[in-house]
Amino acid sequence: MRKETGDYSPLSKRQVLLDNRSNSFLKPSEETEEDIILNISLRPKKLSEFIGQKEAVDNLKVCLTAAKQRKEPLEHILLSGPAGLGKTSLSHIIAHEMGTKITATSGPAITKAGDLIGILTNLGKGDILFIDEIHRLSKVVEEFLYPAMESFQIDFIIDKGPYAKTIKFNLKPFTLVGATTRSGLLSAPLRSRFGIFYHLDFYRIEDLSVIIRHSAKLLSIDIDEEASREIAARARGTPRIANRLLRRVRDYTQVSKIKSINREIAGQILDNLGIDKAGLDEIDRKVLKSIVDSFAGGPVGVNSLAASLNEEVDTIVDTIEPYLLKAGYLKRTSRGRIATALAYEHLGLKPKEKQKELF
Ligand code: ADP
Repeated sequence: MRKETGDYSPLSKRQVLLDNRSNSFLKPSEETEEDIILNISLRPKKLSEFIGQKEAVDNLKVCLTAAKQRKEPLEHILLSGPAGLGKTSLSHIIAHEMGTKITATSGPAITKAGDLIGILTNLGKGDILFIDEIHRLSKVVEEFLYPAMESFQIDFIIDKGPYAKTIKFNLKPFTLVGATTRSGLLSAPLRSRFGIFYHLDFYRIEDLSVIIRHSAKLLSIDIDEEASREIAARARGTPRIANRLLRRVRDYTQVSKIKSINREIAGQILDNLGIDKAGLDEIDRKVLKSIVDSFAGGPVGVNSLAASLNEEVDTIVDTIEPYLLKAGYLKRTSRGRIATALAYEHLGLKPKEKQKELF
């Protein structure tokens, strides 16, 4: 646990690794230290550097200005949306814009209520406590957080048995920023303690293209506009993936001593990496193929799908399927996942009449 502005905690770094499952050519273990450091250095620091997500950014600006005018901490904020879309970046930006410190941790890292006491009592007025994967907090820890969020107080028990005493401790008013890829898993009592909600959605190609050009400038990569767009179109609407594809393209061009990157070169490199024109990689295609071949097009439950692919259910739900759903390759029904007409077309297959009935 570190306290600082604009830096990244080791826990978030693990999150980076987890999220990288979405492009199977780069397994988490293959993400180099350099990749991780570059990812941190490409992180937008100010709200003006945060590209896209106009609605959330515009609303956040108003809240920031109002809180600053009143000289009050911001209300607790819940950021939801798929991995790699900027939730961590935004929490650091909030601290930067408010001129306060940020302490970053994650739901699974806080195993007992006691872990929180040190963190909470060390927060200064207006500081940001960022909890990534907040939906994974244990019930006990969650309940310990309620009075801290609501009235900036915590109760802790000292001593045991007949000598046990409850001590109330007043905290400085702070802002909890929670991030979740699965807002549906958040309990109602926890959700109700947040005052501000922003949902981040997949980025438009135009926005990703701007992010790529900005990153290229920071990394001194010579890339033209069309090439940025080509990478953006294959980045699954996700800035983290856009930056990673840019770095892989840079690796290839550096080794082949290519000075500047155009659309053709970028396209060829991404093809070689198994990222197709729609931005789907080997594991995406495996998921779609498994639904079509092993489950007759669906519907199939996520547990059966995960078992057939030898993947973790969480990997499918958190990092693979959100984009496939958004881009229209998958449909989720009460009975399970269904491959759509677009999925068959993408795999170069013809759906049978029975499968067509599912669309
Ligand atoms: P999340 O917390 O949602 O998983 P991050 O905040 O870690 O996502 O973002 C991953 C990376 O993507 C960041 O390091 C940053 O380089 C880039 N990024 C995310 N959102 C933006 C944005 N709006 N503008 C520019 N870069 C972004």
